[in-house]
Amino acid sequence: MTELTEAVHLSDPLGALEPVPNYACDVCASLGRQREEARARRDMTVVSDCNVEIRRHPHTGRGRSV
Ligand SMILES: [Zn+2]
Repeated sequence: MTELTEAVHLSDPLGALEPVPNYACDVCASLGRQREEARARRDMTVVSDCNVEIRRHPHTGRGRSV
């Protein structure tokens, strides 16, 4: 039998709320820091802005030259 019994783990609740910044990326790393600072002062507007930016920041991938 080839039934698909495995659950789909795409909607991890924590992951959905908080994208993990890519610390290899300067922009994302700095957004990640901003987000932690904002969280520390309970500025959830900035926290969620940073989350949006982190999520939207394009990483075209492996050919990144540093
Ligand atoms: Zn980035």
